[in-house]
Amino acid sequence: MTIKTAEYIISSARVEQCPEGNLPEFAFIGRSNVGKSSLINMLTGRAGLAKTSATPGKTVLINHFLVKASPPAPLRGEGSLAAVPPSPRRGAGGEAAWYLVDLPGYGYAKRGMKQRDELQRMISGYILRREQMMNLFLLIDVRHEPQRIDLDFIEWLGENGIPFSIVFTKADKLSKGKASANVRKYLDELSKQWEELPPHFLTSSETKQGREELLDYIDEIIASLGTA
Ligand code: GDP
Repeated sequence: MTIKTAEYIISSARVEQCPEGNLPEFAFIGRSNVGKSSLINMLTGRAGLAKTSATPGKTVLINHFLVKASPPAPLRGEGSLAAVPPSPRRGAGGEAAWYLVDLPGYGYAKRGMKQRDELQRMISGYILRREQMMNLFLLIDVRHEPQRIDLDFIEWLGENGIPFSIVFTKADKLSKGKASANVRKYLDELSKQWEELPPHFLTSSETKQGREELLDYIDEIIASLGTA
């Protein structure tokens, strides 16, 4: 998938205020400072789209960005762009439109109890009730040991049948060997609870590692909607 445009649309305090219509949505969530804003900027190729900041826990609204993308270039020998199957989700030439949704970071200890409860309600309201959310990308800093708060959140996603994938961030901060060892360790931890592991990606906003894989994954999901 090649992203043509990405623009900020709206920030919502509640799921009811999110944009109407039935464009597919892909949401991103993670603990404060995990690198979510940087990843969103890296994926969309728009440096200032999501605000990056060293101050954790700033975004407390559900942010919608409208992304317009052309389909992935066909592999050699697979025909031309005209071969992209017609789909109600795509415009002329196979263009796809979807919302990238930036959910508030969770687990920031400095918030008060009341604010934390509100935040949790907002996040769970969106995740449980937003029918057009096709996949939730849960961001995990690849440098860290599995943390209880993330494991509990993953368990909750599973209990509620939410489609999700794990995006390990900041891969450039570790050697290749150490990064994949940490990913393995994380997946081993998840295997204790899960028979089938969720899809996962190893990314870096600095080197753009994982960008193509993530965008192709989104594109595959959108393509599957058209043929469903
Ligand atoms: P957010 O709070 O989850 O939105 O996190 P940010 O995107 O604001 O990133 C938090 C800090 O981590 C910032 O100082 C970023 O520059 C840094 N950061 C984010 N992603 C990466 C990455 O892939 N590599 C490196 N080296 N630093 C990163």
